[in-house]
Amino acid sequence: MSQNESLLVINAGSSSLKFQVFNVHENRPELAWRGLISCIGLPTAHFRVCDHTGAVVLDRALVPSEARDLSAAQTVLADWLRDTLPKSPFAVGHRIVHGGPDYATAVLVDDQVLDTLDGLVLLAPLHQRNNLAPVHVLRERRPDIPQVACFDTAFHRSHSPLVDRFALPARFLEKGVRRYGFHGLSYHYISTYMQEHLPEVVKGRVVVAHLGSGASACAMVNGVGVETTMGFTALDGLPMSTRPGTLDPGVVLWMLEQGMSHDEIQRVLYTESGLKGLSGISGDVRDLLASSEPAAKMALDYFTYRSAMAIAGLCVSVKGLDTLVFTAGIGENSPEIRAGICGHLAWLGIDLDPELNQANADCITRPGSRIAVRVIATNEELVIARQTLACLEQAQIMVAD
Ligand code: ADP
Repeated sequence: MSQNESLLVINAGSSSLKFQVFNVHENRPELAWRGLISCIGLPTAHFRVCDHTGAVVLDRALVPSEARDLSAAQTVLADWLRDTLPKSPFAVGHRIVHGGPDYATAVLVDDQVLDTLDGLVLLAPLHQRNNLAPVHVLRERRPDIPQVACFDTAFHRSHSPLVDRFALPARFLEKGVRRYGFHGLSYHYISTYMQEHLPEVVKGRVVVAHLGSGASACAMVNGVGVETTMGFTALDGLPMSTRPGTLDPGVVLWMLEQGMSHDEIQRVLYTESGLKGLSGISGDVRDLLASSEPAAKMALDYFTYRSAMAIAGLCVSVKGLDTLVFTAGIGENSPEIRAGICGHLAWLGIDLDPELNQANADCITRPGSRIAVRVIATNEELVIARQTLACLEQAQIMVAD
């Protein structure tokens, strides 16, 4: 690999397009740029790029034609890449939310793989189609560039068959109705980080709480996933920014009986619920912490209470708990939310140190705490870059230095 060849990582969502560009030295990815096109489809659409030091190198509002949809945003990104990189990326790694029951590792995209992934759109309607959009565009325009799909579901393929089941008749399982689990790229990063930096911790019983705008938790032993809170779709488990988390399916039947359409129910469940629905103010924890409205406090109380319930439930799968890890936007940055969750779990043996918690320290419990609580910043894009390089190496696509 020559010095000026770069690897592109893309994470395409419904309203944002995140990317990172890595230089590759001795098969190791080193960050060069990271960027985000946000608020796609809205008048507030924005394009921001930082270099590897975090310095902002581009920060501009997009005009409506540049960000009317994901396709327009992809063109903006392609133009920036063309103007900035000395040559085209040698490969592209994508975050793909759903790999179905079979993909336990990243996979090189070919026509058959793409067909399979397109067939999973119904299992993750709001995510999968957007994740795959840039794969299709690149395959059409630059079929010479290898693309690798890295899955949020793959980390959870180590679960036992019991854990994967719903208590439904077997014919539903045969059609793919089962627990898949998500946020696996983040859990993979945390698992690898612990193996490298906290080898004693990773051997124990660990629950990782990924608290971002989507939220879930995952139980691991020896860094291997045993159980998780998300199931068939990214709706289940913890309450989220705009999704309710665990919900009695009878509520959905009630909505149907009220005459609500599929699309209306989907909108409520994916975009109007969770912190946003509870507070009626915002789905962003920062807005709720800044608000004096009782509904904002109630939404945050609900979030910490239900999250703690789910974390305690995961302890069954690993027969106790040695370490609780907080990660993602809320988990890494909100002492208030961590304190709320740990307060509900104090009886398990968590002795939180308020000062360390306030400082977002690596370990936020007192030395004698039976359960250690840690804060680890996740890095899903780095996992995608590493998995892409490993996949290319296995397929013998890498060009030697
Ligand atoms: P995603 O990648 O799923 O969009 P993130 O992991 O970036 O989500 O998390 C986004 C969320 O993190 C925001 O909605 C906000 O609630 C929360 N967040 C980010 N920074 C802070 C902060 N300093 N204090 C509290 N919450 C924060």
